[in-house]
Amino acid sequence: MNIHEYQAKALLHEFGVPISRGVPVLKPEDADAAAKQLPGPIWVVKSQIHAGGRGKGKFKEASAGDKGGVRIAKSVAEVDEFAKQMLGATLVTVQTGPHGKQVNRLYIEEGSDIDKEFYLSLLVNRETSEVSFVVSTEGGVNIEDVAHSTPEKIVSFSVDPATGIMPHHGRTVAEALKLKGDLAKQAEKLTGQLYNAFVAKDMAMLEINPLVVTKQSQLRVLDAKVSFDSNALYRHPDVVALRDETEEDAKEIEASKYDLNYVALDGTIGCMVNGAGLAMATMDIIKLYGMEPANFLDVGGGASVEKVAAAFKIITADPNVKGILVNIFGGIMKCDVIAEGVVAAVKQVGLKVPLVVRLEGTNVELGKKIIRDSGLNVLAADNLDDAAQKIVKAVKGG
Ligand code: GDP
Ligand code: MG
Repeated sequence: MNIHEYQAKALLHEFGVPISRGVPVLKPEDADAAAKQLPGPIWVVKSQIHAGGRGKGKFKEASAGDKGGVRIAKSVAEVDEFAKQMLGATLVTVQTGPHGKQVNRLYIEEGSDIDKEFYLSLLVNRETSEVSFVVSTEGGVNIEDVAHSTPEKIVSFSVDPATGIMPHHGRTVAEALKLKGDLAKQAEKLTGQLYNAFVAKDMAMLEINPLVVTKQSQLRVLDAKVSFDSNALYRHPDVVALRDETEEDAKEIEASKYDLNYVALDGTIGCMVNGAGLAMATMDIIKLYGMEPANFLDVGGGASVEKVAAAFKIITADPNVKGILVNIFGGIMKCDVIAEGVVAAVKQVGLKVPLVVRLEGTNVELGKKIIRDSGLNVLAADNLDDAAQKIVKAVKGG
């Protein structure tokens, strides 16, 4: 799960991390009061979307102007003007894809006088099972480009969970950033604060780009991107409360209500499968026969008729879906439950695209009978290969 920059900063601030003062704004008419709470004379008006590259992004609407998604304002009037232009407009960045994202929230911040921009991130290193730091003097730019062209400018190390964060980790960060004296001390302190926040909140990633040194010699987190381990959210209701569902795929939100393992994809063949491995194999074989899956969906083991029907409705509601492949190997999952769920869903929402059903395993005969007796226009398949070929042919044939 991801959160907005302003939420990430507020959370990090609880751990003592230095940030600029700022006020989130949802409506253009609130921008004035927000700006007046900050001292000026410089304000930064920042689009809040779950994607990076906002500064260099472009709005689709000409009325939003061409100054990008992060703007420096020199007066309260200018903050107002930017807020009117940006709120509700669609921002396209390297990370949003060509459709862009609508800006529904802004963060108005007191402007910093930047002397240097650094990069600092923490992530779970799956190879060492430790939390790794990635630090670079090259901040405010794309870290992938730095890794490619000047890898020697990136310093990385991991923290042994048995000892936790130690003073020498902080010194490594300060040294990597070439900081001396009081700034080195600030970096050492920050290192501990970030690690503590990361572990306490079960983060999966914490990226600060840029971390800056101001002209007043203060280290400050100027941008923060945080994502959390979804499997640990149950112990962080405060984090769950930060969820912004408008940033997420509506189909995935619906699927999560039914505890379905669903991921929306870009193809045209909707898939309903039990078991993650079989779902992957089904996606592979669709590709093998020349088409692309519209989703990954594992209905799980002991799904009920209601859950199956909900899953089927999520697939049919996707306008990109031009054909559906149901592939079930009944073990704990029973074929008749799948059949009943599919029939119930089609009765409610109809079926406008070809449907291929391959059933095998527990209660297979009963499942096939339910589908036959329903009068649904279903193409039956005998095995996975046959099923994939049939759905591809049905969709290609129009
Ligand atoms: P991103 O483009 O989505 O990564 O958004 P950032 O929050 O990183 O902002 C983009 C850039 O705007 C930063 O790299 C800074 O160069 C600049 N910027 C952001 N806040 C300030 C500020 O307070 N003062 C100044 N001078 N520049 C800022
Ligand atoms: Mg940034």
